Amino acid sequence: MFDFLIIGGGLSGLVIARELKLKGFKTLLLEKEEELGGNVRTRYEEGFLYEEGPQTILADEEVLSYLKGLRLKPLFAKESAKRRFILKDKKLYELNPKTLIFSNLLSLRGRLRILLEPFIGEGKGEESLEEFVKRRFGEEFLRYIVEPFVSGVYAGDVRRLSVKYAFKRLYEMERKYKSLIKAGLKLKRFAPKSQLISFKGGLKELIEKLKGDLNFSLGDVALRILKKGDYYEVISKRGKYKARSVVITSPAYTLSYLLSNLYPSLAKEFEKINYPPLAVVNLGVVGEIPEGFGFLVPRDQGLKILGVLFPSKIFQGRAKEGYELITAYVGGQTFKEVEGMKEEEILEKVKGEVKEILRVEKFVFERVKLWKRSIPQYELNYGRFFELAKEVEDKFKGIYLGGNYLFGVSTADCIKGGVKKAGEILYNRA
Ligand SMILES: Cc1cc2nc3c(=O)[nH]c(=O)nc-3n(C[C@H](O)[C@H](O)[C@H](O)COP(=O)(O)OP(=O)(O)OC[C@H]3O[C@@H](n4cnc5c(N)ncnc54)[C@H](O)[C@@H]3O)c2cc1C
Repeated sequence: MFDFLIIGGGLSGLVIARELKLKGFKTLLLEKEEELGGNVRTRYEEGFLYEEGPQTILADEEVLSYLKGLRLKPLFAKESAKRRFILKDKKLYELNPKTLIFSNLLSLRGRLRILLEPFIGEGKGEESLEEFVKRRFGEEFLRYIVEPFVSGVYAGDVRRLSVKYAFKRLYEMERKYKSLIKAGLKLKRFAPKSQLISFKGGLKELIEKLKGDLNFSLGDVALRILKKGDYYEVISKRGKYKARSVVITSPAYTLSYLLSNLYPSLAKEFEKINYPPLAVVNLGVVGEIPEGFGFLVPRDQGLKILGVLFPSKIFQGRAKEGYELITAYVGGQTFKEVEGMKEEEILEKVKGEVKEILRVEKFVFERVKLWKRSIPQYELNYGRFFELAKEVEDKFKGIYLGGNYLFGVSTADCIKGGVKKAGEILYNRA
């Protein structure tokens, strides 16, 4: 009999499993794939160190101190990676307050509209990100600044994402400071800075550290959870396990089968959380890549790529001498058709578009990873999923839910959410 069975060996599940193990509990983690890490997948081939999932962690003090506790040495992004670009009319515009005011990225009218922001009143009801940004900053700021940014974080659609749940901080800033510009200026002075990091061997280093001496079973899909008196039985591909508590950190849609015996009506609800497909294309190139983080593409530019990052410009050691590594993203909520495309088609499209924008002489390395279900979208009325998760936990003592559809989608959210959840679990058990 285990004290805790953890389902899912992504970042969230690993952080929780480690915390519980450290407190001396008998734990077992089940992972469907043959490797741990979930979305985190670092690969090293032909002199290129590339990520098929997340590239970075935006680490605040709490995350940095957690990593220090793991004895992990962060690799900080280069100073020049602060430069981010937006593509408009085949030209890259560096994104900073100066360009916003003095360049042609926005029309004069669009720029003046931003200045009205401090005088705009609070919104009513739950708004989409589109409604929120249009109301506060106007249409152009939405199209050329916010929409591309949303592609970069969620691969999402501004019309569907809820500002209250997907961009909680913006929502709260409006309520507290009445203006985001005022809030930005105020917080800039006081807020501790977050830092963009990875590790020398990529994000996989974090997974390796978390793995430590955890007890886990790979290639072991959890199929169903049954309640048996004062314990649970988890039926999986490899067997049956008994545990006092089960922590489920696999994606929301897995609840439809995991909870099908315990709570069938509610289990189905979680399937409604939308995870659009997303292709990640890593390219080793010879060419001149700008110093910077990468560029994002507004949807009205007629391109399929959502954006391109420049990993070999962000971090040391991503590409062999004389080459650069770039990573393009295609698909997401605004181009779901990517799911039906062949790898060669995706490559051809991406390479064609990249060549129009960057000075690439030749492509020497190409890898495509298609995530059929990528990032959970915190869409309008998302609050009900937090309520449903609580309902499951209240009804079935010893069942816990976690993961990026509840903790927030960033790697930092999953680390902090995992630590917090483990604390709650331990508190309930005490
Ligand atoms: C392409 C991509 C790029 C991203 N880029 C960034 C970025 O640059 N920065 C950032 O901060 N965040 C980024 N993210 C988001 C971030 O990586 C994820 O939100 C985070 O890693 C999710 O961790 P998780 O453990 O909650 O979920 P997951 O990583 O999805 O882990 C869930 C695990 O459960 C397993 N599982 C599923 N079903 C079962 C089952 N029945 N039984 C057992 N195991 C099961 C899965 O195999 C998986 O390992 C990106 C995400 C993607 C997909």
